[in-house]
Amino acid sequence: MTLQEHVFSLLKDIPDFPKPGIVFKDIMPLFRDPILTKEIAKALAKQVEHLRPDIIAGIESRGFLLGPLIAQELDIPFICVRKKGKLPGRTISVSYELEYGNAEIEIQEHAVKTGDRILIHDDVLATGGTAEASKLLFEKASANVIGYLFLLEIKFLGGAKKIHCTGQSVHTFVTV
Ligand code: AMP
Repeated sequence: MTLQEHVFSLLKDIPDFPKPGIVFKDIMPLFRDPILTKEIAKALAKQVEHLRPDIIAGIESRGFLLGPLIAQELDIPFICVRKKGKLPGRTISVSYELEYGNAEIEIQEHAVKTGDRILIHDDVLATGGTAEASKLLFEKASANVIGYLFLLEIKFLGGAKKIHCTGQSVHTFVTV
């Protein structure tokens, strides 16, 4: 079995969560196996090392699980993209449209410098709305988003197309 097949076999589908009609992909079973977790972080790091990122930016909250491990593999810093009101000090924020209503995400103002090469990471690429908003956030901070890295892509939702058309490279480990 390949590592991808192993990951796929452990992902759990939870129907009608958090709302009726949504099939939630639960990645938590992966983290019960520390050796597997390490292998996944190594494989994800390998997918993007050629991009030479300066920083891995994880999206709240499941982007905080593998993000720091991937950053460690690449020997680079990890920073958090969080929902509004969670980060102390001065922040930069962006609001964006959700299926129902609005959301706002932010980073700490000192988290990036002008021209930093940012790789955005999250567990699941669904519609791509959050990833796209994160890119706008880093642009607002004058940093340079060079690509995206996801553990899992839900293909039929078309997120890759949405974020691809802005020119960054999109890397996913498993596609469903
Ligand atoms: P997106 O629609 O790409 O903006 O997804 C928003 C966030 O919700 C991402 O951070 C994903 O982690 C999470 N997400 C969206 N759809 C799912 C799903 N079906 N299963 C698990 N997580 C999801």
